[in-house]
Amino acid sequence: CGIVGIVGKSAREIVLNGLSKLEYRGYDSAGIYLNDLAGKEYLTKTAGRIEDLKNKMTPEEQGMVGIGHTRWATHGKPTEANAHPQFDETERFYLVHNGVIENYQDIKKQYLKDVSFKSDTDTEVIVQLISKFAREKNEDAFTALKQALQLIKGSYALLLIDNQNPDHIFIAKNKSPLMLGLGNGFNVIASDALSVLDQTKTFVDLQDGEVGDITQNGYQLETLAGQKVEHQPYELNIDE
Ligand code: GLU
Repeated sequence: CGIVGIVGKSAREIVLNGLSKLEYRGYDSAGIYLNDLAGKEYLTKTAGRIEDLKNKMTPEEQGMVGIGHTRWATHGKPTEANAHPQFDETERFYLVHNGVIENYQDIKKQYLKDVSFKSDTDTEVIVQLISKFAREKNEDAFTALKQALQLIKGSYALLLIDNQNPDHIFIAKNKSPLMLGLGNGFNVIASDALSVLDQTKTFVDLQDGEVGDITQNGYQLETLAGQKVEHQPYELNIDE
């Protein structure tokens, strides 16, 4: 299972190639979301291989921001509906997640009774909860993400895109690997540096309980409580 995301550069090939490099870890389904930052977005998912995902995508599916996922199902069968990216009922938020949400049933009962779920995943509660906070409390995506994660127990490496503010990738990590790769005019995020070494060799490792707001030319990391954090970037001196 794995995650790849990029903002600020033509995303399709980079995400698909990155996911291919993570294939060795095993997975049962895959998906990709692309946004061209000019009003068009594309979501493609498959209960098959990366190769099937590529074959399902039309040539016009391109984006300057994108997130991709290979899934190792823990909750819900390996179907297309259960593949990530998962999205909320207003189809505004798109999220990929590696890990397990332990209290997803409690969250559903307590906060999301009136939501009609489209998947059997534990992941969908995260994106539905973010959407609920964004709508009902009129929070921006980053704040809604932090509020949602304060209620969530479990492991996650996740990437989030808000299609009302699509030139950002919001990220979070807890007990699942996630690193930020710094580029010139773009930034990448991946569960494994191996998948994006052809893009950059400069990385920042997120720590557990940290969230980030990543754009083409910058990034900001915080704790879930909103305290700014800084980590020294390092060079990874290995070949692809
Ligand atoms: N628990 C999530 C699911 O089953 C994510 C699994 C993964 O890490 O790929 O959909």
